[in-house]
Amino acid sequence: MPTRPAISLWMDQLAPQPPRPSLQGSLTVDVAIVGAGYTGLWTAYYLKRQAPALRVAIVEAEYAGFGASGRNGGWLMGNLLGDDRLLAGLPAEQRRAGFDLLHGIPDEVATVLQREGIDCDYRKGGVLYCAARYPEQEQRLRAWLDALHREGLSNADYRWLVPAELNAQLRVNNPLGAIYSPHCATLQPAKLVRGLAEAVERLGVPLFEQSRVNHWQPGLLRTDQGELRAEWVVPAVEGYAAELPLLRRYQLPVQSLLVATEPLSARQWQAIGLERGQAFSEFSRQVTYGQRSADDRLVFGARGGYRFGGRLRDDFDLNADEVGLRRYLFGELFPHLRNVAISHRWGGNLGMARRFQPHMLLDRAGRIALSGGYGGEGVGASNLGGRTLADLILGRQTALTAQPWVLGERPVTALKAWEPEPCRWLGYNAIIRSFAHEDHVLANPRSAPWRRALARRLADCMESLMR
Ligand SMILES: Cc1cc2nc3c(=O)[nH]c(=O)nc-3n(C[C@H](O)[C@H](O)[C@H](O)COP(=O)(O)OP(=O)(O)OC[C@H]3O[C@@H](n4cnc5c(N)ncnc54)[C@H](O)[C@@H]3O)c2cc1C
Repeated sequence: MPTRPAISLWMDQLAPQPPRPSLQGSLTVDVAIVGAGYTGLWTAYYLKRQAPALRVAIVEAEYAGFGASGRNGGWLMGNLLGDDRLLAGLPAEQRRAGFDLLHGIPDEVATVLQREGIDCDYRKGGVLYCAARYPEQEQRLRAWLDALHREGLSNADYRWLVPAELNAQLRVNNPLGAIYSPHCATLQPAKLVRGLAEAVERLGVPLFEQSRVNHWQPGLLRTDQGELRAEWVVPAVEGYAAELPLLRRYQLPVQSLLVATEPLSARQWQAIGLERGQAFSEFSRQVTYGQRSADDRLVFGARGGYRFGGRLRDDFDLNADEVGLRRYLFGELFPHLRNVAISHRWGGNLGMARRFQPHMLLDRAGRIALSGGYGGEGVGASNLGGRTLADLILGRQTALTAQPWVLGERPVTALKAWEPEPCRWLGYNAIIRSFAHEDHVLANPRSAPWRRALARRLADCMESLMR
């Protein structure tokens, strides 16, 4: 049986599967989905559940889960990037309803997993955002918690843990405190994508692999060997939008990179905690994320870069610096793991929208239904996106379609576009560098107060450009 090269720890853990057939000849459907990641699969799933007679097909350039969906950190979050800004202008009751909808995402996913018999190591243990490496982390965390509470969220949603409370869940070196939220689960990403692919096939959706779309006009997609005619096209390509001319100005490909250790011993885990499958992050602007995998590895990631011209990265055999940064970051939290063996290193492309918040819309003239711009927080967002696109395509006005991240009927070109190069590359990298510089200065206890203040100020300014 032809096998596929492993692209992540998660894919490596799955039994090999033969490729699905590619698209051959001409096929007419109601909805054609480009990309078999979570967005495409969830959209197909909810469409077929609500309208079983609808003809839906998926075309995937490589194989299901090849993109970020088969590579991510496995945090299934009950939120959206920038949801606080998106909901801020609404009356209190509506805002609360919006947050409740988002907080319900992990439970909605759990319901589908149960219904479809998908085992993806789902554990809803919440998430811990910790301050440990330097005192400014605690200040920023406390300010964030205040802002969340001002928006009407309560301690039941986000609460402060003093070091002793944090220690009961996660034991890091030098704990200063943490925010805990129950609205997050962890899972094995590739098991989810494979289970979803099989579920949509059971619902009667053909999934064509090795079928890259190389021509797209309203209602028509072409691959090397076939064509798909459809009333609606759902370009569910997120971090690969740079390859589709219509979308490339709106979803920038940026990378995120991860490492996984060999399975750790019971004794090592006793020293760390995370007994309930909690997700954790050390709260720096490097955007770090970790989890304890079901087979007891520490999986730890941090933000990567952006390539000039939106060039996709396809080689994710991380170099020594990239591995070194991640090892350093988790080693600061868990000094006894500094020299632990790393078994896997990988990464992937994700899509960043210019407003640094997701969008969902229906472009009637272009016959497009689009959900994307999740910016590294798409495991949960794509479930919401799939449900929302199903409602939009079926013409249903629901609580989902009434949310501020849903732009309704708008052309894709109404989205804010990224600046042309070289501004885009210079701007994005200036922001990322200011974050790395801040972290470097603040993590050094010998940095003078004025240097600390300056580094922080610069990073604050840069972060404000992301609003
Ligand atoms: C390393 C990493 C870690 C992350 N960690 C987390 C996390 O812990 N929590 C979280 O919430 N989010 C995380 N994310 C983000 C999250 O994984 C993504 O937002 C989400 O998986 C996007 O799903 P998608 O289906 O929209 O896109 P993808 O999963 O990227 O799927 C897009 C698919 O489209 C296919 N495609 C592209 N172009 C074409 C074409 N021309 N024709 C046909 N097919 C095409 C690709 O092959 C791909 O399979 C992470 C992302 C990365 C890269």
